[in-house]
Amino acid sequence: MKKATIIGSGISGLSIANMLSGRFAVKVLERSDKTGGLIKCERINGNLFHRVGGHVFNSKNQLVLDWFWKHFNRDNEFLQAKRNAKILLAGKLIGYPLENYLYQLPEEQLRPIIDELLTLIATGKKEAGSYGNFKDFLVGNFGVNLYNLYFGPYNSKIWNTDISKVPLEWLDGKLPMPQIREVIVSNIIKREESSMVHAAFYYPKRDGSQFIIDKLAEQQDISLSYHVSDIKFQNGQLALNNGDIVTDVLVYCGDVRQLASIINIDDDTLNEALKNVSDLLSNGTSNVLCETDDNDLSWLYLPEDKFKAHRIIYTGNFSGTNNEGSKRKTCVVEFSGKQEKPTMIEELALLPGNLSPLAFNYEPDSYIIQQNGTRDKIARLKELLVTYNIYLLGRFGEWEYYNMDKCIEAAMELNEKLS
Ligand SMILES: Cc1cc2nc3c(=O)[nH]c(=O)nc-3n(C[C@H](O)[C@H](O)[C@H](O)COP(=O)(O)OP(=O)(O)OC[C@H]3O[C@@H](n4cnc5c(N)ncnc54)[C@H](O)[C@@H]3O)c2cc1C
Repeated sequence: MKKATIIGSGISGLSIANMLSGRFAVKVLERSDKTGGLIKCERINGNLFHRVGGHVFNSKNQLVLDWFWKHFNRDNEFLQAKRNAKILLAGKLIGYPLENYLYQLPEEQLRPIIDELLTLIATGKKEAGSYGNFKDFLVGNFGVNLYNLYFGPYNSKIWNTDISKVPLEWLDGKLPMPQIREVIVSNIIKREESSMVHAAFYYPKRDGSQFIIDKLAEQQDISLSYHVSDIKFQNGQLALNNGDIVTDVLVYCGDVRQLASIINIDDDTLNEALKNVSDLLSNGTSNVLCETDDNDLSWLYLPEDKFKAHRIIYTGNFSGTNNEGSKRKTCVVEFSGKQEKPTMIEELALLPGNLSPLAFNYEPDSYIIQQNGTRDKIARLKELLVTYNIYLLGRFGEWEYYNMDKCIEAAMELNEKLS
């Protein structure tokens, strides 16, 4: 059997490892001392801490769902929930997504928004693809008033970047593309939005996304605390870490920017392509596990500049087993970028729910940022790496704004290629 080595034990690495097993002798290498990558969780005095975000699962791709439910027992191992997300605006909870709940806004705010939406209908909205960047797309779709109230501040906060420099293709297929007439009708008949991927979701009964990882890891040969820092191509095979591991196929799920310093292959064209992706931009997140007063929310969005945090994820509402160390429920407060502990503690006092912090985590790379040309650079690099049997996979490997289901979908595509 040929050997396939996977770098990274996040959802991408463990998905492809499971798909290739049986056809390849698969080995997974993970630099951390624990599997999971971004979806890793830990227990803090019994309470479950999603160290990044608060991962829920769903997919619009039936093939992904079929694959997933072949590995998990939906009824025994997972809970199913409907999203109950809200947006905190001027101290009031407004429904999410905002465009479906405009009727909950005060009249003086609502009138100019409706005027603008009607003008957009009268003048004819541009095709989504004809906008040059994310900001123009949002203003063009929703008008300046809604942009200033919510879309601009929230997205600028979460991406921590100038969204007028973000090309629209980045978000292709990941954003709802609302029809303004439908927005108005939805507001009149008060119809809830149900087409977004996480409008309903699945969540493990125990241990959150770590449960998903642990189960996918069960049958795999994984070396933890193994940092791949050198990749060479010798006699038609790949040699890792000075020949410590030799493999026929290599799937890299780490950060593509680091490959320039890991790959040691004498190929000028390849090295140029590696250099071209070594300065891509990303954003990190700081997360605080907190105790909170009871509520029935899944997510609370915080677009206003007065809050440094941008979202609260009520992980304690996803499964009761997440709160085993506390008399209250738990939640994760998410901040963009690196925040100092005292700043976050100060901020918690401003947020609803009488929050008390239990644990902190900073993840330097959680959001990839695409710019014009990023996709072309990655596509070119992939083309060159394939000639050495190296494949890129995953959020930071392919530099795509993937959720877990998209990582699985990408793994399925790679699996096809390798069959
Ligand atoms: C705040 C936030 C909330 C999110 N919420 C959701 C959600 O609710 N639902 C959802 O579906 N998705 C969600 N996502 C997206 C999801 O987290 C990612 O799609 C997914 O975790 C990416 O997995 P990955 O395997 O591609 O990468 P990673 O999880 O980053 O895994 C890469 C692994 O490779 C290892 N590695 C890197 N370099 C090396 C090396 N040189 N040697 C050895 N090992 C190496 C790393 O240690 C890491 O374990 C969220 C993301 C964020 C940031």
